[in-house]
Amino acid sequence: MANEKKGMLFVLSSPSGAGKTTLTKKLADHNKNFEISISYTTRKPRPNEINGQDYHFVSRKEFEDLINEKNFYEYANIFDNCYGTLKKSVLDLLYHNKDVLFDIDWQGTKQLKEIKDLSLVTIFILPPNIKILKERLLNRHAGMEKLIEKRMGKFNEEVSHWNDYNYVVVNDNLDSCYKKIMNIILSEKKGQKIKQNYGDIKKMIEKLTK
Ligand code: ADP
Ligand code: 5GP
Repeated sequence: MANEKKGMLFVLSSPSGAGKTTLTKKLADHNKNFEISISYTTRKPRPNEINGQDYHFVSRKEFEDLINEKNFYEYANIFDNCYGTLKKSVLDLLYHNKDVLFDIDWQGTKQLKEIKDLSLVTIFILPPNIKILKERLLNRHAGMEKLIEKRMGKFNEEVSHWNDYNYVVVNDNLDSCYKKIMNIILSEKKGQKIKQNYGDIKKMIEKLTK
C-alpha cells in the first residue's frame, strides 16, 4: 500500500488468559509483513511450546547476564519469572522493514514507550467477562487450580493499566476481535488514529473489576 508507514511496533497486552497470544499469532499468520518479537523467559516451556518459536527459554543466570550486558529493550518480573525483549531481535526486524508484534505486559510496554524513535502503537485486550476468562484459563491449564487462582488474582491490578494504552479491545468472538485490531493497525499504518469512546471503556472496566 502506498504511503504506508513501515517498521511499526504493535504491542498487545492483557490480563492473563484474555487472548493476546492467540491474537498475536493470528495477526502474524495472516500478514506476511508482521513478525512476532520472540521474548526471552526463565519460565519453563508449556507442553505445546517450542524453544526459539514461542519463547527463548533460558536459565536465570543467562537472563541476568543479558540484563548486565544491557541487551534488553525491556524486561520484567511476572508471576515469579523473568521476561524480556532483546534489542537486537527488534532492530534486525526493523532493519528488514518488518512490522513487529509484541505480546508483553504493562511493565514492558511502559519501558518501550520511553524509547525514542520507535513508532509504537499499544493495544489492551479485555475478556468479555470474568467467567469467560476463567474458562479460558481452565482450557489452557486443565487441573492447575492454584495457578489459575494466582493469575485471576492479578486481574484487577493488570486491568488498572488500561489507560496507558492507545486502544482497548474486547476479545469476545475471536474473528471480530481480530478484525477490530486489524482495522486499528491498518489505520495507524496510514497515519490515522481510530477514535474510541473512553467513557464507555471506563464503564466496562468498572463492571469487570468491581
Ligand atoms: P493470553 O496470551 O492473553 O494469556 P491466550 O491467547 O493463551 O491468552 O488464550 C487463553 C485461552 O483462551 C487459550 O486456550 C485460547 O485458545 C483461548 N481463547 C483465546 N481467545 C479466545 C476467544 N475469542 N474465544 C474463545 N477462546 C479463546
Ligand atoms: P505467559 O507466561 O503466559 O506466556 O506470559 C505471562 C505474561 O508475560 C504475559 O502478560 C505476557 O504478555 C508477558 N510477557 C511475555 N513476554 C514478555 C516480555 O518480553 N516482556 C514483558 N514485559 N512481558 C512479557
